Amino acid sequence: MQFEKNKSLKRLNTLAFEHTAEHFVAAQFDDDLAEAREHALKKSWPLFVLGGGSNIVLTQDIKGLVVHPVGADINYQSTSKDDVLVTANAGVNWHELVLDTLQKGYAGLENLSLIPGAAGAAPVQNIGAYGVELNQRLVSLRALHLPSGEWRTFTNKECEFGYRNSLFKRLKSEYVISTITLKLSKSLPLNTQYAALQQLIEESQLTNVDAKAVSRLVCQIRSQKLPDPKVLSNVGSFFQNPIVKKEHYQSLKAKHPNLVAYPQADGQVKLAAGWLIDTLGFRGKRTGSVGVHDKQALVLVNFGGGTGEQLLALADDIRQCVKRSFDVELRIEPNVM
Ligand SMILES: Cc1cc2nc3c(=O)[nH]c(=O)nc-3n(C[C@H](O)[C@H](O)[C@H](O)COP(=O)(O)OP(=O)(O)OC[C@H]3O[C@@H](n4cnc5c(N)ncnc54)[C@H](O)[C@@H]3O)c2cc1C
Repeated sequence: MQFEKNKSLKRLNTLAFEHTAEHFVAAQFDDDLAEAREHALKKSWPLFVLGGGSNIVLTQDIKGLVVHPVGADINYQSTSKDDVLVTANAGVNWHELVLDTLQKGYAGLENLSLIPGAAGAAPVQNIGAYGVELNQRLVSLRALHLPSGEWRTFTNKECEFGYRNSLFKRLKSEYVISTITLKLSKSLPLNTQYAALQQLIEESQLTNVDAKAVSRLVCQIRSQKLPDPKVLSNVGSFFQNPIVKKEHYQSLKAKHPNLVAYPQADGQVKLAAGWLIDTLGFRGKRTGSVGVHDKQALVLVNFGGGTGEQLLALADDIRQCVKRSFDVELRIEPNVM
């Protein structure tokens, strides 16, 4: 394995912040991960896993060893005529995994098309989009426990998934996920309930909507709504959609009839954080080299030369304004380092 020193992470985080990893290594196989852990232990380096860097805000150089999973292994194991278990290495690009499964005729990941990042990071915040979350497809994952060096297989339940959350997000860098296993099927019903998707299907006048078509439409919506990090540096949604009690929602709705909200199964209500921020006039606001995207108020961007501190200061300004105006606490979605 090739350990590099003072590696620039500018191209390895989609906000393009200029920070370095004190030590850096790419790891493809389980043995590589174990070796990287051993090496870090011997040198007393803290170890941090970095996938595609699309859900991280770097505010400083990373001390110790940054391990970057790589590799493109995807394996299919049929369990019946229609059903399959798909196992992907942590380093597989998520969108390429989605396309590969669709190409082989399996449905299940189409709504999660075009989410940046690596397969190994997908369980960390239980990625979700257009009415589907990873936990609806994930059967198990394999991970290396960094403190003990033991390998462990987690069932879906053991991952303790929640909205943009999991055991792995809560425990920070305690486990390195090496493979994920998903259950997909040729006969899985499509989920096209999400309003924007439904509208586009109607407008496109498609007669035969299959999983590949849903994927294409999701990509179309995403490309219109979200800035491509290669063009404008960002980490997608910067805040989670806050969930409030029904009474709180009702009092807000009385004052703001246009409030965008989604009722939850437990009686609470999820508010669209983007709507709250937009309503306060932040969309398109720029402070120095960072700002709020002009088409989507939930996305904070680095126009070039900005820093993590500047972005977090802007986020803090937004959070305080939302708290004052709506009595709602916004939580930052990406991981701050
Ligand atoms: C334009 C854009 C759109 C986005 N849209 C969505 C969306 O629709 N839905 C959504 O949920 N997210 C979305 N995201 C956020 C992001 O793409 C996902 O959270 C993605 O899963 C992060 O993957 P990554 O490899 O880039 O993770 P990184 O940013 O590299 O890492 C994120 C966290 O996971 C940890 N981690 C990474 N790999 C591993 C591993 N193998 N084992 C253990 N921990 C690990 C890291 O230590 C870090 O704490 C979007 C981001 C962008 C830029």
